[in-house]
Amino acid sequence: MGVFEAKSVLVLGGSRGIGAAIVRRFVADGAKVTFTYSGSPDAAHALAAETGSTAVETDSADRDAVIARVKDSGALDVLVVNAGIGVFGDSLEQDPDAIDRLFRINIHAPYHASVEAARQMPQGGRIIVIGSVNGDRMPVPGMSSYALSKSALQGMARGLARDFGSRGITINVVQPGPIDTDANPADGPMKELLHSFMAIKRHGRPEEVAGMVAYLAGPEAGFVTGAMHTIDGAFGA
Ligand code: NDP
Repeated sequence: MGVFEAKSVLVLGGSRGIGAAIVRRFVADGAKVTFTYSGSPDAAHALAAETGSTAVETDSADRDAVIARVKDSGALDVLVVNAGIGVFGDSLEQDPDAIDRLFRINIHAPYHASVEAARQMPQGGRIIVIGSVNGDRMPVPGMSSYALSKSALQGMARGLARDFGSRGITINVVQPGPIDTDANPADGPMKELLHSFMAIKRHGRPEEVAGMVAYLAGPEAGFVTGAMHTIDGAFGA
């Protein structure tokens, strides 16, 4: 019997990369998993068919759609907010609408989804948000909006941990360093620069992040809340 047998899990942003690894991990551990997608319907449907999970379309940039999706999911045992984007380049040249969309996906959606999930969550529910080591350290130019958004999750987790703690609901931020996904491929142009900052000179694997998420969602982590958990090969050390 899996650790998450009969548990209800919602992953926001599960079609690809780290989110897909999280979906696979919870399914392997027995959970009933629903995940959202927006731009990648083919990948989402393929993952659902592979794993027996349920794929539902929800744009994380649409606050009301996110709230409705979480509400309609009923009493979740675990919410994982993984969906996130970057808008990279000279901050003086960037389109403010693109920056505000990033804030809606990376900050507003995690906040509103977490609050909505907590309304119906049972005692001992778990909320895990995927932040970034860039919430702590920003060693390159052109990523200030992304760094801002991931730092914002830290304050959110500290505050909501106190709001939900009396019900045994925990909320934590997982902060990956470079992880091999479409967004940051291990053989991409940033490879040498990124690895130069690291003690373990490779990209992490999405499955390694999923393992940390599974720990935080599991029965041994009931005393872990309001905290940031970095998994980065010492990128930020
Ligand atoms: P990918 O770009 O590979 O995948 C992003 C996932 O988020 C996809 O499943 C995508 O779904 C979903 N997503 C993006 N925008 C939306 C949206 N508007 N609505 C719904 N879903 C959305 O990224 P990663 O797997 O690399 O990143 C996942 C998380 O990890 C992000 O929060 C990212 O910031 C964080 N992270 C990643 C690092 C890395 O090096 N890879 C390092 C540190 C943090 P779809 O395509 O269907 O829209």
